[in-house]
Amino acid sequence: HTKNNGRNGHNFFQPSMNTLAQTQLQLNNDLWHAQENNELRLFYQPKYCAPRGPIIGFEALLRWQHPTRGLLTPDVFLPLAEKTGMIVTIGGWVINEACRQLHQWRQQGHLNWSVAVNLSALQFEQSNLVETVTEALATHDIPPELLTLEVTETTAMRDPDESVRILTELTRLGVKASIDDFGTGYSSLLYLKRLPASELKIDRAFVNELQHQTEDATIVSAIVALAQSLDLKVVAEGVETAEQQAFLTGLGCNTLQGYLLGKPVPPEKVAELPNFALEAEEKRQAALPHSI
Ligand code: C2E
Ligand code: MG
Ligand code: MG
Ligand code: MG
Repeated sequence: HTKNNGRNGHNFFQPSMNTLAQTQLQLNNDLWHAQENNELRLFYQPKYCAPRGPIIGFEALLRWQHPTRGLLTPDVFLPLAEKTGMIVTIGGWVINEACRQLHQWRQQGHLNWSVAVNLSALQFEQSNLVETVTEALATHDIPPELLTLEVTETTAMRDPDESVRILTELTRLGVKASIDDFGTGYSSLLYLKRLPASELKIDRAFVNELQHQTEDATIVSAIVALAQSLDLKVVAEGVETAEQQAFLTGLGCNTLQGYLLGKPVPPEKVAELPNFALEAEEKRQAALPHSI
């Protein structure tokens, strides 16, 4: 049977749409198995005390080692996982895995390091989030203040009253809250003041354009000033050049993150990060007997 799809020869479903839908469907299927097949990974990007160290901690960033498509970044599969709700289970795994990794680092002597985990909007709204966090901290014996939960400004401002409630519950556990991608959403300053967050992360879109667009420099200065007046730590993400590093440090931005200082790496590569060698050298120098 062949079916005639209209006289003018137009099909409603273009082959390209079909292929895209099929790819998404396949990806969705694969994602169901990704967890049980241990294909999900966390990479870690260092956060540095401005201007260049020491490392104060890491942001955990999700990767999927897909059997045929290679290493996938969140933009490829996160929207899908959010749509199907799979992000809740995946996000639970992320929290536990980041705590497990931090425990391992602590055993290696890195007692001051902290770890930050991103929460998706759906995950943020789950009533069992507090339990998930409590359990991960207890299982891996993590001091709560060493775990930061990052929520985007957009998520936090979707239902501000509800966000204040959720973040209050979470921060009662002793964990820190951070407002991610700040500057891209629409914050009510009133709510920003009420949110029990301890950190703002300036979106990398502003940091990126710092040297080219003076408006961005003005925005970044304003965000840093706002953060300081609200007694929040301010982190710049996406620092790629020495100029950006110098500008941000000059403004009083306390923490820097970006390719200039360190890319996200798998945990086994953490010891190879740039300023690791520097720190080790400084320690060695400090341990040397002083010559007179
Ligand atoms: P984000 O939380 O704002 O993370 C920062 C993103 O910027 C990361 O992308 C990081 O690799 C990238 N980045 C860092 N420094 C630089 C730089 O200097 N230049 C450039 N061009 N990019 C830089 P990534 O890993 O692809 O993650 C993208 C987003 O996916 C994250 O944005 C976060 O919103 C989300 N995400 C990542 N992991 C998780 C997770 O475990 N759970 C949830 N819910 N979301 C996650
Ligand atoms: Mg983040
Ligand atoms: Mg961000
Ligand atoms: Mg982002």
